[in-house]
Amino acid sequence: MRHIQRRQQSTAFGAAAALHLSIAGFAGACISPEEVLMALDPVPDHHLAGLRRIEFSPEEARCCPPSVVAAYLQRERCICFYRLPAWPMFRHVLHHEIGHHVFALIISSKVKTQWTQRAVRRGAPASAYGATSVGEDFAECYARHLRGEPVDSASAAKEAFMRELVFSGAPWTLKEQQLL
Ligand SMILES: [Zn+2]
Repeated sequence: MRHIQRRQQSTAFGAAAALHLSIAGFAGACISPEEVLMALDPVPDHHLAGLRRIEFSPEEARCCPPSVVAAYLQRERCICFYRLPAWPMFRHVLHHEIGHHVFALIISSKVKTQWTQRAVRRGAPASAYGATSVGEDFAECYARHLRGEPVDSASAAKEAFMRELVFSGAPWTLKEQQLL
């Protein structure tokens, strides 16, 4: 198990919550702990605040349908992988699940409301999976933006939303840090 400690950046959002993130279950797996860290590289520190664990639990795979690769468990503040796909898909799924964490616990309710009321209406979902709910569309767009890919060819508004309201770190876009 690895514990990640990053130097806290002094950013516009003030005192950041300390990171207490552990990575477990990947030793000897087809995705190594180093690759998990590599996938976390582009993720801003404040998007990982409050996330406690990223784990690989293949023994729990039997409890979910074969199509389910991973899940964000909000109550446990944990991203759990049940199966490990090859690297490009692994990275996408990890970023997607971090997108769920950001949507649930990092951005302010004001920003969340703007996403549900405005951005989604203006454009098509980022993918077929993104069409299943507002939260899924957010997570898909988040993952694409993190990789520097176009969020949605049909919606410049979503691109701007990610840049200005999700990744800017401006204080009003974030939840009160003590909630974490
Ligand atoms: Zn999802």
